[in-house]
Amino acid sequence: MQSLWSDAGAAAFAGDALALRVYSSRLLGSNEDLVMHGGGNTSVKAMTQDFFGNELEVLYVKGSGWDLKTIEKPGFPAIRLKETRMLANLETLSDTDMTKQLRSLMLDPTAPSPSVEAILHAILPATFIDHTHTDAVVTLSNNPQGEAILSKLYPDCMILPYVMPGFILSKQVNAAIRQNDPANYKGIILMHHGVFTYSDEAKTAYEDMIELVTRAEDYVAANGTISLPQAQHPVDLIDLARIRKAVSKARGSAQLAILDQTPDAQGYAALENVDHIATRGPITPDHVIRTKRVPAIISTSPVEGVPEIERYVADYQAYFAANGGPELKILDPAPRVGLWRNMGSIAFGSSAKECSIIADIARHTRWAVQVGESIGGWEALPEKDIFELEYWVLEQAKLGKNGGPGKPHQGKVALVTGANSGIGKATCEALAADGAAVIGLDINPEVIEQINGIDITGMVCDLTDTQSVAAAVDRVITLYGGLDIVVCNAGIFKSGERIEDHTEDTWNETMAVNLTATQRLMSATIPYLKLGIEPSLLVVGSRNYAAPGPGAAAYSVSKAGLTQLARVAALELAGEGIRVNVIHPDAVFDTALWTESALATSAARYAMSVEEYKTKNLLSKEISAVDVGRLLSTMASSVFAATTGAQIPIDGGSDRVI
Ligand code: ZN
Repeated sequence: MQSLWSDAGAAAFAGDALALRVYSSRLLGSNEDLVMHGGGNTSVKAMTQDFFGNELEVLYVKGSGWDLKTIEKPGFPAIRLKETRMLANLETLSDTDMTKQLRSLMLDPTAPSPSVEAILHAILPATFIDHTHTDAVVTLSNNPQGEAILSKLYPDCMILPYVMPGFILSKQVNAAIRQNDPANYKGIILMHHGVFTYSDEAKTAYEDMIELVTRAEDYVAANGTISLPQAQHPVDLIDLARIRKAVSKARGSAQLAILDQTPDAQGYAALENVDHIATRGPITPDHVIRTKRVPAIISTSPVEGVPEIERYVADYQAYFAANGGPELKILDPAPRVGLWRNMGSIAFGSSAKECSIIADIARHTRWAVQVGESIGGWEALPEKDIFELEYWVLEQAKLGKNGGPGKPHQGKVALVTGANSGIGKATCEALAADGAAVIGLDINPEVIEQINGIDITGMVCDLTDTQSVAAAVDRVITLYGGLDIVVCNAGIFKSGERIEDHTEDTWNETMAVNLTATQRLMSATIPYLKLGIEPSLLVVGSRNYAAPGPGAAAYSVSKAGLTQLARVAALELAGEGIRVNVIHPDAVFDTALWTESALATSAARYAMSVEEYKTKNLLSKEISAVDVGRLLSTMASSVFAATTGAQIPIDGGSDRVI
């Protein structure tokens, strides 16, 4: 492993121990093979002043919620060092008391809570303490010969058997360093957990870590296999949607199912014995809160209902019954990782972010398991130790912060057409704000920039081209594993010609985009909506359907046809639980259809000012694209769970419609 330390880079922080601590913590955090997603922790001991100006020695230790990769000074709460050390001498200390005491020792009570390993950092007699969960070293400890291998590899380190992190670990280390002066060792290796290095110099603590990890990597290179099997299999996306549905049911809420079908992932999933080697347990128990103890193993062509997921749920319930006590409440029994034979590794989560964390851990785990197998066998900690950590209050607290009340579309996938501007863009934003992962389609390539953010993606698609639509739908499923909400919004308004003046082009193009393309989109998405979670199909009609005017027959007829198409769809799809509803907007002027001059011309025709024209409805209300987007998102939610085949106006009230 390469050291990333730069003397020139570090020189900028000379004389500022905390700044230096930030610098080398980020070096550790930037390497996924050392720490992942909030794992690992670091600290520095320094003098500071309390509120009254008294000199005081404190421990700056990583605060919860911070990641070493991006940590800054405020990520290191200062706690009183002397009193923190005293906690290690207590006979027992409950989790609640430890959390309370550590918080009470903070100089700034508004800072984040100190790491659960704060006491351990306090008792190690060195200025800089670095702690990682490095794959290479932990993999060697997950081996039947783990202790022997590590003793040979690390004669200059203390090697300690696994105990629960937190207070129990600090007691174990406290006893060990009383017997043996840690100054005589380069570091501490914690079986099935990680490595501590320490020094009064930031550079030495960091470089000792790199050196210890390099030894493990060299051992693996010399004694194990690093080139992993590769495979390439075509994936049936309907099967993926079926798996996603079964997992969503098991978790009790919609889940994204993000498939890693890289040759690496497929190679692992294609191993004959993957069901044996992948189900022995995680690299380190710390991962259990993200990935659960084991993945679900899913057959190549899962049948309806996916019995493998039902079995996983039953196994999880048995695991809870065997290890849990009456004081515990079972967590949801759904898998977070699916190893889909031949097809790859699926991460299940309520957001793309949760999935990406799970996918990263799954990727590192399959490396560790395969390498472990090649050097004598992969052996994780016993089930009861993993269980203890999974149900440890302080671990669950790490997840709690990301939770909060669920948004109505959390874990759902939505597809919106005509997404580059106006109602389509506003609908994408409303659905995303309500928690959905959203894909916005548009023929205008600008959609890629217009619809771009976390869990919200623009794609170019010509809706009148069947192949282009099929490719877009495939990409949606490949990205998120399924589809729950489709909003058919794309539409054109060519010109206001009277019937006898209509050109063939106006008529044909209007029908092609507004009507035929919608039927084709429905046809391409319905197979996935049938496997969706609370599936909803929404059609954007027009007030023009119920209250037509002279001119623009093509537009008016296309919207009437669209409404009829939706009514038929509502009848056909109700049995599948798919709701189909129509909205009829009017006078939404902040869309691409309306330019300033078109607005002025129309207002003049009614002898009105533009302002009067915009609010020319019974409620005298101006209607914006955002209003329409919010209505559509709400109609896709459970608020409208008992409504299908409905037509809802959003036009400020029209006496011609009422
Ligand atoms: Zn740790």
